Amino acid sequence: MKVTAAVFEGVGQDLVVQELELEEPKAGEVLVRLAASGVCHSDYHVVKGEWAATGPLVLGHEGAGVVEQVGPGVTHVEAGDHVVLSWVPYCGRCEYCLAGRPGLCQQVQQTAYENVMADGTSRLSRAEGTVYSYLTAGSFADRVVVPATGAVRVRKDAPLDRVALIGCAVATGVGAVTNTANVRPGDSVLIVGCGGVGLSAVMGAALVSAAEIIAVDLNDDALDRATALGATATINAGRESVPDRVRELVGEDGVDWAFEVIGLKETLETAYALVKPGGTAVVVGQSAEGVRIELDPMLMSDREKSLIGSNYGSCHPARDFPRLVELYMKGKLDLDQLISGRGTIHDINDAFAAMGRREAGRTIIVH
Ligand SMILES: [Zn+2]
Ligand SMILES: [Zn+2]
Repeated sequence: MKVTAAVFEGVGQDLVVQELELEEPKAGEVLVRLAASGVCHSDYHVVKGEWAATGPLVLGHEGAGVVEQVGPGVTHVEAGDHVVLSWVPYCGRCEYCLAGRPGLCQQVQQTAYENVMADGTSRLSRAEGTVYSYLTAGSFADRVVVPATGAVRVRKDAPLDRVALIGCAVATGVGAVTNTANVRPGDSVLIVGCGGVGLSAVMGAALVSAAEIIAVDLNDDALDRATALGATATINAGRESVPDRVRELVGEDGVDWAFEVIGLKETLETAYALVKPGGTAVVVGQSAEGVRIELDPMLMSDREKSLIGSNYGSCHPARDFPRLVELYMKGKLDLDQLISGRGTIHDINDAFAAMGRREAGRTIIVH
């Protein structure tokens, strides 16, 4: 069948909206008609060449839609079901999946991270040859064939143009707080970077009743959104010293938990520096390839300050996505605060330009 998609052709180039051929789902695959897709910084990393990826590639990995057809052997969803896409289509059988950590699934490393399905091929093509689907989610398209575990069923009355965000930003940010870190009521939390994931971390910290939720960004609009989502203090790092303000707010020792949601050397090192003895800094931000950080290991061995990583909020998509949808439907996750605007697939390059200008909030592409 024909689909309309935004295709990455090469670094630094605008995505090109074009018609592609999409095959039917094979065994263990699901065809989804997409309703909406969020535009995430990880797509932008590829466009800017900060992460190596070979075109042609349909970008987008944060989407939601309606199942149209399932391949042989798929039983967990059927035509008509509403689904949120996941970019870790886990195998369920490897040691990481069995340990409840599908974000580390071995099969995902060899398939979704290589933009191919379980059999090593892609379902997309055009006259010139194969086109790949980013993380096998390729959501900048009106239809997509995804691995079965990449389509997570959610309740049908949830608005797809909001819950699409759960597939990346919200699972990653909320999960970093509630799964990876296990923040406790009354803890103090620092969140450095208030893009979609950082704002979701603010929501997560508010959900678990962190006492102090300090949000840092360079953009006042982003900080206003953080306040609306539950931040108890905000710091504009362009105007104020982050270490000085954090110590003013919580004392000289620093915070219990710091979440770095940008991926830069300077902010990673600052986040670690502002964690109290026995506290933990969590690396959530996705760095450009080649970024390295410097830390004093004595702060780990003597002060027991930890540094841990969080991929996809250590989430289990099939368990966590329906719960996050439920929280949204009950008014406990204000997804609207993450959204700055809506557009069509033809607005995709403008959405990246807004990202380049560090504008706050996410653009939702409505298909
Ligand atoms: Zn993302
Ligand atoms: Zn696995």
